[in-house]
Amino acid sequence: MMIEVATLGSHCALQVLKGAKEEGFTTILVCQRKRESLYRRFGFIDEYIFVDSFKEVTSTDNVSALNERHAVIVPHGTLVSEVGAKNVIEDLGVPVFGSRRMLLWESDRELKERLMREAGLRTPKTFSSPDEIDRLVIVKLHGAKGGLGYFLAESPKSYYENLEKLTMSRKVGGGAPLYIQEYVVGVPVYFEYFYSPLSGELEFHSIDRRYETTVDGLGRVPARMQGSLRPSYVVVGNTPLVIRESLLEQVFKMGEDFVSAAARLAPPGMIGPFCIEGVYDENTEFVAFEFSARIVAGTNLYTQGSPYTPFLFDGPMSMGRRIAVEIRKAAAKGSLSKVTT
Ligand code: AMP
Repeated sequence: MMIEVATLGSHCALQVLKGAKEEGFTTILVCQRKRESLYRRFGFIDEYIFVDSFKEVTSTDNVSALNERHAVIVPHGTLVSEVGAKNVIEDLGVPVFGSRRMLLWESDRELKERLMREAGLRTPKTFSSPDEIDRLVIVKLHGAKGGLGYFLAESPKSYYENLEKLTMSRKVGGGAPLYIQEYVVGVPVYFEYFYSPLSGELEFHSIDRRYETTVDGLGRVPARMQGSLRPSYVVVGNTPLVIRESLLEQVFKMGEDFVSAAARLAPPGMIGPFCIEGVYDENTEFVAFEFSARIVAGTNLYTQGSPYTPFLFDGPMSMGRRIAVEIRKAAAKGSLSKVTT
């Protein structure tokens, strides 16, 4: 049986399909018609399934087309945000690389917090009611896309004022559930890992930081003129980062503890790429505010490998390619069920 590798045309599709091609797979892009001209520029995409909306990937026709080609779908942030973890679990009748269940743990704030605590990660304090706000907090929408509509507050009063401004500007629908979290002052850092169920080993691949508008632009405005400006947190891109070598041991430990915690709480646990996201505070202690249980777009920086991948691999290795290597090895052993769900 010849397996093909498929993904949705967004987020990190180029990297995923280029990596799959390098490992000898035929590649399939589930592509919105409006983006066809973008993706046609790249010769490593072999086949297209066209949709108007990504939700259509779960339609009977598309599911049969994917299964006829023995496709394995590589999930990424757009699959989670546009199709939804629940629909991926219930309606996408095609093998998915990694654990679908973990996508649900990533999407639900309460489950997410539970897993992070189980993994022993330091997390920011959360507030169940705006009236309890006694410090700088960041207010997040449930299921927000790329930080859109997040705002800061430092008291119940500023919470209600800022919420009203946001509702007026229609960034938040009235009554949208909000999640209030202590704002950790420090530098944001995103750690990208790969856990291989075939070898039982955790690989640390890369680090990035996000480039977010407008928060990363505020430094260009003199402080005395910032009075009326409010930061927003919409991701525009990513920039590369390495950290002090003395911090690396803790980075490995966090990844390993995360993998063990996921196996305990949500078997079969983590399979493949994931990312732990947080801030180093003033004591150089890492406080984690998020995780992603699949490939993140920050790995797009490293299509030839990161500053860390040469310690693990002899040649170039992207996260997209690493996924394809795992699929190839699993298929060769007849163990695809160990890496897909
Ligand atoms: P998220 O959607 O949770 O990844 O957050 C988007 C962005 O908001 C992050 O990349 C950070 O810049 C910022 N952010 C989120 N949570 C916190 C926090 N607890 N403390 C400081 N900054 C945060």
